[in-house]
Amino acid sequence: MKKLLLINPVGQKSGFLLSKFSTHSPLSLAYVAAVTPQDWEVKIWDENFTPFKFEEADLVGITAFTSNINRAYEIAGMYREKKIKVIFGGIHASMLPDEALQYGDAVVVGEVEGIWDKVIRDFERNTLQPKYIGVQLDLSQSKIIPRRDLIHPDYLWNSVQTSRGCPFNCHFCSVSNYLGREYRQRNTEDVLNELDQIPGELISFLDDNLIGYSPESRKRARDLFEGMIRKGNHKKWWMQTSINAAEDEPLLELAARAGCMFAFIGFETTNPETLKGMKKGINLKIGTENYKKVVDTFHKYGIGVYGAFIIGNDFESPIYYKKLAKDLVHSGIDIVQLSILTPLPGTDLMEQLEKEGRLVYKNLPEDWKKYRLSYVVHQTKGIDEETIYRGDSYIKKKIYSFPIYPYRLLKSFYNLKNGENFYLVKKFNQTMKKSWKSSHYYSKYPHTL
Ligand code: SF4
Repeated sequence: MKKLLLINPVGQKSGFLLSKFSTHSPLSLAYVAAVTPQDWEVKIWDENFTPFKFEEADLVGITAFTSNINRAYEIAGMYREKKIKVIFGGIHASMLPDEALQYGDAVVVGEVEGIWDKVIRDFERNTLQPKYIGVQLDLSQSKIIPRRDLIHPDYLWNSVQTSRGCPFNCHFCSVSNYLGREYRQRNTEDVLNELDQIPGELISFLDDNLIGYSPESRKRARDLFEGMIRKGNHKKWWMQTSINAAEDEPLLELAARAGCMFAFIGFETTNPETLKGMKKGINLKIGTENYKKVVDTFHKYGIGVYGAFIIGNDFESPIYYKKLAKDLVHSGIDIVQLSILTPLPGTDLMEQLEKEGRLVYKNLPEDWKKYRLSYVVHQTKGIDEETIYRGDSYIKKKIYSFPIYPYRLLKSFYNLKNGENFYLVKKFNQTMKKSWKSSHYYSKYPHTL
């Protein structure tokens, strides 16, 4: 029996990888394993738990984001030296297949499941092609269940995906370029059956937006939440969604009853001009002045809010950072993800900054290590690099220091009215604080503005 080794490389333990509370399992590899012909043995090597050591295999598949692509190329090198073929997949290789081909034998661009059988058969016939263009699955018909038995058992969260694609094209995001602009959804009964098969209680829905953007997608979410309640499967879960979800309170109430603990929401910025530049139309429609109302609505149903914000945008200022720190405290957002604007391959932002000659770290692929949402990697406009790092630390110092930190936690405890949800919120806050304290700029710059 031939052996396929699938690898999840981890270059550097930082940011979300610092805690089991915020680390996700490599679900995409479990999907690849599920569509691998049965006459192959498949193993997943996950560097989140075990640093990689060479292991014999007939074929190797590696997935990676931009921030860990160097580690992926390093591991690929060990196999290519021994003439073992390596195939790359995942978002980075899909956006830059020609770069990846310098380090591997083949690249699958986009969704792998529909084309994987051909890739394997080509390999067996010794006719492996350099590039395979993945087919976007009709998810409503897809019955593929990821091979969770191959995922490391120590992950806290069981990842599940119920939809793919996004109709928007925010300038910093490559999701619609990678998975398409059509919001494709799995059949509700299929998702419910998959949930039934997962023995663990904690679920993270990896969809970029579980609730979606249209009346049809809201209906599907309603069916899903009702199904979870009806089946009484007692899962506790979190989702990513957008701020317009707050417009449908009955749906949020159902989500809470179905076990939703918190929602990850991209607020991005409180400056409408910056939002326009980001092309984040959905937030512009609701209005930055209504962010607090959105948070309050989620809290009304005991759902915590994990709010994502980006700094380092053109023409930001110390005044904006001071105001943002206040707004974050005032809004009652339970977990704050504050990242530094990063142009990633496949985004409009990358295209724009390249055109304007504003990329600073261009020794690629080596410099991809810095494209991890915590470095200023481009020439800033209307603000200098040091002010961005100081602004980041200023805001984090505010929200993670006495007396505001315990005040925020107390407020979360009051808003969530649920010990388990609060425990997770507290753990996420600890992870965020630890991630800031271990950042490359923490000791380099003062935390003042
Ligand atoms: S940030 Fe969210 S809404 Fe914007 S393109 Fe990406 S997935 Fe879609």
